[in-house]
Amino acid sequence: QYILAIETSCDETAVAIVKNETELITNVVASQIESHKRFGGVVPEIASRHHIEQITITLEEALEDAGMTLDDMDAITVTEGPGLVGALLVGVNAAKSIAFAKQKPLVGVHHIAGHIYANRLEKEFEFPLLSLVVSGGHTELVLMREHGSFEIIGETRDDAAGEAYDKVARTLKLPYPGGPEIDRLAQEGEETIDFPRAWLEEASYDFSFSGLKSAVINRLHKAKQRGEYLKPEDVAASFQASVVDVLSTKAFLAAEAYGVKQIIVAGGVAANKGLRAALKEKFQDSKAELLIPPLELCTDNAAMIAAAGAVAYNQGHRAEWGLNANPGLDLELFGSRKK
Ligand code: ATP
Ligand code: MG
Ligand code: FE
Repeated sequence: QYILAIETSCDETAVAIVKNETELITNVVASQIESHKRFGGVVPEIASRHHIEQITITLEEALEDAGMTLDDMDAITVTEGPGLVGALLVGVNAAKSIAFAKQKPLVGVHHIAGHIYANRLEKEFEFPLLSLVVSGGHTELVLMREHGSFEIIGETRDDAAGEAYDKVARTLKLPYPGGPEIDRLAQEGEETIDFPRAWLEEASYDFSFSGLKSAVINRLHKAKQRGEYLKPEDVAASFQASVVDVLSTKAFLAAEAYGVKQIIVAGGVAANKGLRAALKEKFQDSKAELLIPPLELCTDNAAMIAAAGAVAYNQGHRAEWGLNANPGLDLELFGSRKK
């Protein structure tokens, strides 16, 4: 069984093919980072236009790389949401056109289900499992008791982890996207500043990063006023220490409380060296097995959409020809929706 997937929710145009749910055949990603860099973030209108230019080229490249044609596909899957509406629309319309022209089943996929399922391209899932989702727009602890079912047991009350990285990076005048830049600096610095950790209420699995973001901004401001020099490496290391401490501790506590067999990390921030190292240490003696995707499957790609889409397809999910981009698509509702 061959599943084609299209992903255009943000600033990468991506097409992938997965065989029998878990075997990656091809994974083509056309990134627009260079076009957005000078604006310090993703400009939605520019993103949409790039997707329109890139979608056909990316699709052809994926098919060529796989040595396959659209006729070989069993289903066409596409990111339906969440994301930027104009960007999503390009992928959704491309997928609908292909599915209609080739009379193939069409399946809409939740972007975060995709980030989670990126892990299944590496290792088979064992339930119950807990996923720590840390991306540009989401920070959640998601409990899965079976394939395609998602229960959010904790989530951010303000900024997402990736968003906090990008905002702090901007204050440090680092180029976009800031996450990898801060990660790189943090490796060279030391935790010299004691930034706050938002633990929230006892036993809460929710997160909050806006207070930390403000603390960093205020500290930099104060240093400037006093003419004090703070090494950017140390600011990065101190900020990262706070984020990583909260993420890894809450993931560990939740994994223990729910007695999960696996803890899997998902989303762009899963590429973070500090987070990867902290989780490895935390879960070293835990019964839960830790899965972290390879770097290329952490940030946006279509392989993860194919992996989640294949499961949705095999569970009976089908989209109608009226499928629309849904920028606010809910993960739990997506999981409970079957035909
Ligand atoms: P979402 O998936 O929530 O819709 P998104 O698709 O924009 O958001 P991803 O592509 O999953 O997000 O991840 C991008 C985010 O990951 C950015 O905020 C980026 O700064 C962050 N990121 C990437 N690499 C690293 C890293 N090494 N350390 C920290 N953050 C990182
Ligand atoms: Mg991106
Ligand atoms: Fe993403």
